Amino acid sequence: MTDKPATTPAAGGRAGMKKELSERFKAYRHVWVFVEMERGEIHPVSWELMGAGRKLADKLGVELAGVVMGAPGGAVKAAAGECFAYGADVAYLVEHPVLAEYRNDPYTKAFTEVVNTYKPEILILGATTLGRDLAGSVATTLLTGLTADCTELDVDADGSLAATRPTFGGSLLCTIYTLNYRPQMATCRPRVMSMPPRTDGKVGRVVEVTPSLVEEDIVTKVLSFIPDRDTNKANLAYADIVVAGGLGMQAAENFQLVKALANVLGAEYGGSRPLVQKGWITADRQIGQTGKTIRPKLYIAAGISGAIQHRVGVEGADLIVAINTDKNAPIFDFAHLGITGDAMRILPALTAAFRKRLSPHRHDLLAS
Ligand SMILES: Cc1cc2nc3c(=O)[nH]c(=O)nc-3n(C[C@H](O)[C@H](O)[C@H](O)COP(=O)(O)OP(=O)(O)OC[C@H]3O[C@@H](n4cnc5c(N)ncnc54)[C@H](O)[C@@H]3O)c2cc1C
Repeated sequence: MTDKPATTPAAGGRAGMKKELSERFKAYRHVWVFVEMERGEIHPVSWELMGAGRKLADKLGVELAGVVMGAPGGAVKAAAGECFAYGADVAYLVEHPVLAEYRNDPYTKAFTEVVNTYKPEILILGATTLGRDLAGSVATTLLTGLTADCTELDVDADGSLAATRPTFGGSLLCTIYTLNYRPQMATCRPRVMSMPPRTDGKVGRVVEVTPSLVEEDIVTKVLSFIPDRDTNKANLAYADIVVAGGLGMQAAENFQLVKALANVLGAEYGGSRPLVQKGWITADRQIGQTGKTIRPKLYIAAGISGAIQHRVGVEGADLIVAINTDKNAPIFDFAHLGITGDAMRILPALTAAFRKRLSPHRHDLLAS
């Protein structure tokens, strides 16, 4: 693997570094996306990655496959249909009773077995809690490279996966290659890639696989499942409207103004990293490179300067409205609308204006 600034032409930076791919890796072909399913529910990042995988497969002229793992039954079969609807040509259904609940050990064993049998050249997973756990152990078991938290995936002139991610605290982007090993693995966080359109009625090839797993060989046991009791859990990544505050809010009690506007708009609220460090908001509400990536239809940022580490998490928003006292704040470089002024005065004015104009049923209009 090699790091280079993303601005360097791909081939130039690696001249002379690529060895001939060893004979055993030459048979590796096709792009695979891991379809993350827990308790019958598919994580939407799987389809975002299917969209990204489709572009890679088309560039390489190969097939795109979804890999679904779980206990034999309807949920896994239904997921195959979804794979085709989101652009896959093939669905690998890896079914075994031992795979009923996610556990690292059996999932890694089953996944590496399928990879060693069918030999994909590119393997992409979501950078979720489950995906990060699985990707790391699959990569180390297969002795191949893994680029985590990618913000861009591409194929360069010689067909290698160019996996771009932030580096040096987010101030630079680097493109990482897995030159001499296969598969080339990458993870991407939810909402980094856009959701592709869903097409009903598409069909494809289904490959059913029964991995060689024995429950007695697995050391971890699931004794019971206790759902998260935190009903206040943020769903920032998939929210249509997000209102956020930064250090410009000046005091913890002023953050109520951000929450009040979010409440009136039926939005999620979040903030910049210093607010988590100060204990004004919980870590699951941090937006940015080391927090959540969001793609709302409307993002309102109050008292946030727009540092690069924050910017990378919000750039996918359709409309960014920034409120800042400093007309030269970097956030105005990428906001679509800017209000130069004191957030402590502007937020209550916006809340009052929206409260007046929006009756409950009109929240839907705003979000559509
Ligand atoms: C490795 C690494 C990862 C990081 N990850 C993240 C991340 O995920 N998310 C993140 O957000 N940051 C992250 N950071 C921190 C980032 O670099 C910035 O320090 C941070 O985003 C700044 O937060 P801020 O905009 O709230 O504060 P500041 O940069 O201090 O900006 C405050 C802004 O408020 C304005 N202001 C002041 N008073 C008012 C007022 N009354 N009304 C309106 N505006 C006002 C000021 O003009 C200023 O622009 C990371 C940093 C590193 C090194």
